[in-house]
Amino acid sequence: MQAPTIHEIPERSGAAFRLARGEILTVIDPRGEQVADLLAFAADDLDEVISSGRTLDYAETIYLTTGHKLYSNRSQPMLEIVADDVGRHDFLLTPCSYDTFHHFYPTLPPHRGCFGNLAAALEPYGVMPDRIPTAFNCFMNVPIDAETGKLRVLPPISKAGDQIVFRAAMDLVIGLTACSAPDSNGGTFKPIHYAIGPNPRLD
Ligand SMILES: [Zn+2]
Repeated sequence: MQAPTIHEIPERSGAAFRLARGEILTVIDPRGEQVADLLAFAADDLDEVISSGRTLDYAETIYLTTGHKLYSNRSQPMLEIVADDVGRHDFLLTPCSYDTFHHFYPTLPPHRGCFGNLAAALEPYGVMPDRIPTAFNCFMNVPIDAETGKLRVLPPISKAGDQIVFRAAMDLVIGLTACSAPDSNGGTFKPIHYAIGPNPRLD
């Protein structure tokens, strides 16, 4: 079986592409400790979009991994997680942006972040910035204190070469980033790799 092409998203940038129903998307952390924000829109109706609230409701957990489905705002499965080396991802927090940099890192040079990168990458597909919802943050490590609900953003536990693999349940437009926020990525910015096509681990 021919291995699919590996695409690189350079550090602090983003990409968008189509993913047909049934296709496999592999998201790879090539160096370790790097987050990738993932968005999905129905290709034939951009008003149908990935929904954190629906997904967490149906999964009955905030920690999603192999076997969980990512649902749309219309309660339709958009993606299923079919393999996962890491087992710790976040689906609570919105993509980092100019405003989050201003909030959390007022002394650092501002950056448009995942939000700006997603908006730019998705614009040719007709997605306007105000349509960007909470992203599924691959490899993002956000532990919650069970008593107080306090969130922390810690370095990802992903190691170099770790993957999360999705199967599309409908025709999609995908947005994907190499996250730009210092705390989410252990203080350094690395690329993200992705591939569309058969993943040998699923055989
Ligand atoms: Zn980010």
